[in-house]
Amino acid sequence: MILGKLLWRGFTKRCPVCGKGKLFHRWFTMLERCPRCNLRFERIEGHLTGALGINTVISIIVVIGVGILGGILTWPELPLAPLVTTITAVAALFPIFFYPFSKTVWTAIDLRMRPPEPGEVLPGFGDWLSANSAGT
Ligand SMILES: [Zn+2]
Repeated sequence: MILGKLLWRGFTKRCPVCGKGKLFHRWFTMLERCPRCNLRFERIEGHLTGALGINTVISIIVVIGVGILGGILTWPELPLAPLVTTITAVAALFPIFFYPFSKTVWTAIDLRMRPPEPGEVLPGFGDWLSANSAGT
């Protein structure tokens, strides 16, 4: 269950390799490296473009979910103005809220696709990622 563990750590804003939290100075400012396992979070040039993609996909899912939930909860009245206002507010604010999570989630997915190279993390930290790469 490598992917599940990685994603859990990513969705809880922790280092996917070692589980260390508090990786952000401010909401938008992530440490360059994990203080525990020394993983460099921007593993390759343009790495965080993937985080932008994750943020976009999750935000779209949340906005659609809010729209469907709003429709279900207010059916059959469908108060259009409040629904549109709520959906617009969620569409504007959720990506800001989710931004740091998208960085750690994308790092988790990237680590599943490309396990750490030798020397990329301190000895003993990345072994579990490549030891059973045939698992999920
Ligand atoms: Zn770490």
